[in-house]
Amino acid sequence: MPTRARPFRCLLLALSLLAACPAGAQDGERNRNAAVAIAADLTAGANGATKLTFTLSKPVEARAFVMERPDRAVIDLAEVNFQVDAETGRRREGLVQSFRYGLFAPGRSRVVVDLAGPATVGKIETVARQRDGATLLSIEFQRADREAFRKAAVASDPLPALRKSLAAEPADSRPLVMIDAGHGGTDPGAIASTGVFEKDIVFGFAQALVARLESYGRYRVRMTRDRDVFVPLGERVRIAREAKADLFISIHADSISAAPQVRGATIYTGSEKATDAESAKLADRENKADAAAGTDSAAPPTDVADILQELTLRETRGFSAGFARTLMGQIGPVMEMSGKPHREAGFVVLRSPDVPSVLVELGYLSSKRDLDLLQSQEWRESVTGSMAKAVDQFFTNRATLGRPSGPPRKAASIAPVSP
Ligand code: ZN
Repeated sequence: MPTRARPFRCLLLALSLLAACPAGAQDGERNRNAAVAIAADLTAGANGATKLTFTLSKPVEARAFVMERPDRAVIDLAEVNFQVDAETGRRREGLVQSFRYGLFAPGRSRVVVDLAGPATVGKIETVARQRDGATLLSIEFQRADREAFRKAAVASDPLPALRKSLAAEPADSRPLVMIDAGHGGTDPGAIASTGVFEKDIVFGFAQALVARLESYGRYRVRMTRDRDVFVPLGERVRIAREAKADLFISIHADSISAAPQVRGATIYTGSEKATDAESAKLADRENKADAAAGTDSAAPPTDVADILQELTLRETRGFSAGFARTLMGQIGPVMEMSGKPHREAGFVVLRSPDVPSVLVELGYLSSKRDLDLLQSQEWRESVTGSMAKAVDQFFTNRATLGRPSGPPRKAASIAPVSP
């Protein structure tokens, strides 16, 4: 597309019309003070440089970095309400193959640019347009060789901003249960035909489970996300490990639009080898969350090459499988389970070598019956109650086995554990 910007004879009228329309449901609650983006343009210069320009209602701060495998550029912005023609991001121009945008964290938006080849970020410019006062924010991409691109990608690490200090409180020796509500922020997860997002359903459920466990007074309970925010998969694992969690429970709800009759819950534990093709496909789908939101999941969170760590992982997986069985015994009688209710697959969030971890798919958003139950208060009370009982049983058994708290951090004794 050539440089010409579409004339906005009356930007103010356009913006006031936008304010009158309810915001799209996709981004959930909108910040009224956020800048509004009404256009995005791509222009390729003669020297191979490509410029991505957003027309905004006011200036916003922007920061950009690049990532490898796949080659991407990420632009972090203060919150922007994108009212841009959806087709714009799908057009290829110069170094830009396509781009997408959305809310990434509270008060922060993100643009993820899929690059057609290695490129670095050049000038980021903000210019006020004389005739209507609009702000033009442009980001320039310059062709780079693979080596220069790799160096630039290594130099940028987007995670520190997201990291919170989660040091464990040494005074409190109660076991720590980490509840992981799947998806969040720019990643909605599965979407029901009614428009309901998986991220919202699982968050509500996770909150109810936390409340139930806390009411026992025997556990410390934390969440990997405590609101509608995107948290990368590896980061969820890191949060659990750094806090020295004793148990990690990830909550999800799948969808198979092609088979609306399929329903029921499944409990997954981690394994390099999936139980069946269906489980492998599901883990693949869930593991794609990071790439879609512009973060890197290429590097596994831990290196299991170490033989000691490998043994620790094996022992931990024995505990994970033990908890999965206990959980099945408790929730089986109160909820519909799938045909094969305990399966294994290579979920990124189940890769902690030292934290027993399970992932529960509560049901299918594609099943009308499951969806109704997932949104029912009564069902939620009953299922979270049974899950909390399973947690209690797990730690009671652990205590009688001589492990009052904490999973095996050092593989000092490698007792054979049947998975
Ligand atoms: Zn999910």
